[in-house]
Amino acid sequence: MMSELAPYAAHTESSRGRRFREAPPRGRSEYQRDRDRIIHSTGFRRLEYKTQVFVNHEGDLFRTRLTHSLEVAQIGRSVARHLSLSEDLTEAITLAHDLGHTPFGHSGQDALNDCMKPYGGFEHNLQSLRVVDVLEQRYGAFDGLNLTFETREGILKHCSLKNARLLGDVGERFIRRQRPGLEAQIANLADEIAYNNHDVDDGLRSGLLEMEQLATVGIFRRHMRAALKAYPKIEGRRLVHETVRRMIDTLVTDLIRQSAASIRAHAPASVDDVRKAPPMIRFSQRIQQEQIELKQFLRSNLYRHYRVSRMSSKARRIITDLFQAFLAEPGLLPPEFQTRAETDTPRAIADYIAGMTDRYAIVEHRRLFSIDVS
Ligand code: MG
Repeated sequence: MMSELAPYAAHTESSRGRRFREAPPRGRSEYQRDRDRIIHSTGFRRLEYKTQVFVNHEGDLFRTRLTHSLEVAQIGRSVARHLSLSEDLTEAITLAHDLGHTPFGHSGQDALNDCMKPYGGFEHNLQSLRVVDVLEQRYGAFDGLNLTFETREGILKHCSLKNARLLGDVGERFIRRQRPGLEAQIANLADEIAYNNHDVDDGLRSGLLEMEQLATVGIFRRHMRAALKAYPKIEGRRLVHETVRRMIDTLVTDLIRQSAASIRAHAPASVDDVRKAPPMIRFSQRIQQEQIELKQFLRSNLYRHYRVSRMSSKARRIITDLFQAFLAEPGLLPPEFQTRAETDTPRAIADYIAGMTDRYAIVEHRRLFSIDVS
């Protein structure tokens, strides 16, 4: 395997640098330093108690955003290594990509966005950037983690044009309609591979999905058959794992093969060429179609399952209640957020709520609304 980075990879020496100048790191590269800062951050530890689909206390074996981020990092690094791209940068982006997520997964994010509509909205990608740029308070010289431009740009997967204009350097590509570097493109698809597959796994584990239902989905059926062909007697969890690991392998292999072909076809000489070209990290047509089918299946059978809807409804209520209570009485906010609230009250409330874990949000709601004597 090649260890040399490709000319179109992110090279530490040609990094666009950090917002605040710092002495170069010793014994590690700039992107490794980014990764280390992310792992040591408070936001990263909070990922352990935040969820995507299932609420954290539903069960101990479901994915949390922490294990999800580790799976994304592992997939992303494999792909980066095969394509001679920067594993370190890919790892930094993948580990940070969900830092801005609210408690209670997508329903929490939607609820907070609804609350923030009149005040500039709430976007979780933008919030991830806000965590590493502003909200983490660990260094004497600056707010945030002072990460490199490349990691910050990779974290900002989507962004509205309005916000892109306010962001300066990392917003540029949205205005120019350009792509980010290949490492960021990998992070994006590694995320997709990870969540589709672990949602299948968690969906089955929770009993919300059945094997028979999933067997109607092309990619699952194909790999389940392959697993049963190799081990005709297996069933239950063992069959699920043999199927899911085959799906992940197929997706990763396809992503590497197709991306290598499209990099060859576009022959970029530099990161600048990558930015101007169409996305080069991609699945083949066939796998892309199968992924869409699987996503649609998950949407109608798992994400809209009545038991998930009940959790989402409760989550929405908790977030909305908290937001409105703090907006009516900012004096209820903890002191550090009251200071922030002096300049922008709704944003300070959104920062506070977005930083909560599932459990913390439930407890905070109880503290503010329960009339029980405790
Ligand atoms: Mg993710």
